[in-house]
Amino acid sequence: MKIITVIGARPQFIKAAALSREFAKHSEIEEIIVHTGQHFDANMSEVFFEEMEIPKPIYNLEINSLSHGAMTGRMIEGIEEILLKEKPDLLLVYGDTNSTIAGALAAKKMHIKVAHVEAGLRSFNMEMPEEVNRILTDRISDYLFCPTDSAVENLMKEGYENIESKIVRTGDVMQDAAMFYAQKSEEKSNILSQIGFEKFALATLHRAENTDSKKRLSSLVEGLNKIHDTICPVVLPLHPRTKAKLEHHNLELSVKTINPVGYFDMIELLKNCSLVMTDSGGLQKEAFFFGKNCVTMRDQTEWVELIDNNVNVLVGSDKEQLLIAAKEMLVKESNFEIDLYGKGTASKQIVDALLNY
Ligand code: UDP
Repeated sequence: MKIITVIGARPQFIKAAALSREFAKHSEIEEIIVHTGQHFDANMSEVFFEEMEIPKPIYNLEINSLSHGAMTGRMIEGIEEILLKEKPDLLLVYGDTNSTIAGALAAKKMHIKVAHVEAGLRSFNMEMPEEVNRILTDRISDYLFCPTDSAVENLMKEGYENIESKIVRTGDVMQDAAMFYAQKSEEKSNILSQIGFEKFALATLHRAENTDSKKRLSSLVEGLNKIHDTICPVVLPLHPRTKAKLEHHNLELSVKTINPVGYFDMIELLKNCSLVMTDSGGLQKEAFFFGKNCVTMRDQTEWVELIDNNVNVLVGSDKEQLLIAAKEMLVKESNFEIDLYGKGTASKQIVDALLNY
C-alpha cells in the first residue's frame, strides 16, 4: 500500500512521528512524506524531523507566508503533480491546517482515497480557518480517524451515518507520541537548566484569533505579565507570528520568553511546570497527558472532555478571568487518571484499519 502523507505545520510533524514509526513496522506499507513548507524555519520544522527521527520528506513544496487562498491553491497544485507521478493508494492528512484541506481536495478529485487523522473535532466557530478546514476535510475523507468520543458524536450529529466513510475511534496519536518520546526527553534536553526557575507556569500564544486582534493580544499580554509579576514565573516559547505582532503593536511581554523549542524540551517543560496556559490545541491535551491543569486563552475548544473533567478552563482573552483561573488552577488537585485519549495505541489502530478495510 503506497501512502502519501501531507504535513506542513509543527503539530503535524509530532503526529506524523507517531504514525510513521508504526508504518515503518509494516513492509507492505510504503510511506512518502510531502512537506508543504507551511512551517519552514529550523526551530518550527527541522528540529522535529531530526530529534523525533521522522522520515525525511521526499518532496518539499516550500509554500509559506501567503494568504489563505494563495497558500491553499498552490498547495493543491503542487500535491496534484506529486499524486499524478506517484499514483498512491491513499493520501493521509492530519488536523486542520491549509495543508490538510489542500491534500484532501487534491486527492479526492483524482479518486484517491483520503484518510483524515483527528477527524470529527469541532470548535463550532466558523470564523476560525481551522474549523472550515476540519469540516471540509472530514466531508471528503474515506477514513475518519477520531481521537475522542465527542469527535465521533459530532460526526453523527452531522449525519455521517448516511455518508459513505469508515469512522474509527482510535484515540489520539499525540498521546502515542507523548508516551514514546517522554521516555527519552530527560536525557536529550537541558532546557530546565537554561530557564532557571524551580516553579513556573508554561504558556504559549499563537492562534490567529488572539494575535490578529490588538484588543485580545494586549489584554492577554497584560494578564500574563501580571501572573508572572505577582503569582508565578511564566515561561513562554514565543511563536514567530506572535513575536511579529507584538512588535507591530508595540506590546511588551515581561514574562520569560524563549525561542520556540523542540519536542524533547517541550516535554521537559510540561513534566516540570505547575500549570499550562495556552491557546494551542495540542498543548491543552499534552497538559493532561503530563498531569497538569490548563487555562485556555480561547472562547471555545475542540477538546471539550478536558473542560467536562475540570482540568481545563476557558478564559477567552479576558485578563481578569485569566488571572482568576491561573490562581485557581495553580493549586487545584485534579484527577488525571481518566482515559480520554486512548492508551497510546492510536497509530496501531489506524494502521490496522487501513490494512483491513
Ligand atoms: N510545541 C513545541 N515547541 C514549542 C511550542 C509547541 O514542540 O515551542 C509543540 C507542542 O508541544 C504541541 C505542538 O507543538 O505538541 C502544538 O503546536 P501548535 O501549538 O503550534 O499548534 P496547535 O496544536 O494549536 O495546532
